Amino acid sequence: MDKSYVTMEACFICGEDTGSLLIDRRLKDSFEKHTRTLTVCDKCEKNYLSKGVLLMEAVQKPYGYTGKKKPEPTGSFLVMREEVFSKMFDKEIPEQRRVFIEPDMFKKIRQWSEGNGSAKDDNTKLGKKRKG
Ligand SMILES: [Zn+2]
Repeated sequence: MDKSYVTMEACFICGEDTGSLLIDRRLKDSFEKHTRTLTVCDKCEKNYLSKGVLLMEAVQKPYGYTGKKKPEPTGSFLVMREEVFSKMFDKEIPEQRRVFIEPDMFKKIRQWSEGNGSAKDDNTKLGKKRKG
């Protein structure tokens, strides 16, 4: 199987093409036809991130020679409404509208949000369109 250095960038939320091609040698391990990045397509940006914050479950993984850790998204996410986010975290809405959440915390938030229906969950309406 030949590895390609080119992949279609896929929206983090819906998995659809964002229309961008990615060409990056560093990404080759994860290269499939579509590569999910932290990019969100225009549609999802408008539908979800205009009113909410994207919470991405991520584990801390060491990388490079230094062993320094950086968050690596697991692919699970939910979108939380702004007002809920502010209440829960007592924080300003991040400009990027994207935050990484550790798995333990993510689980709690998800359970909580399922209880009151204030967040979109990737197991309900979203995330089913994954191709392949
Ligand atoms: Zn999208």
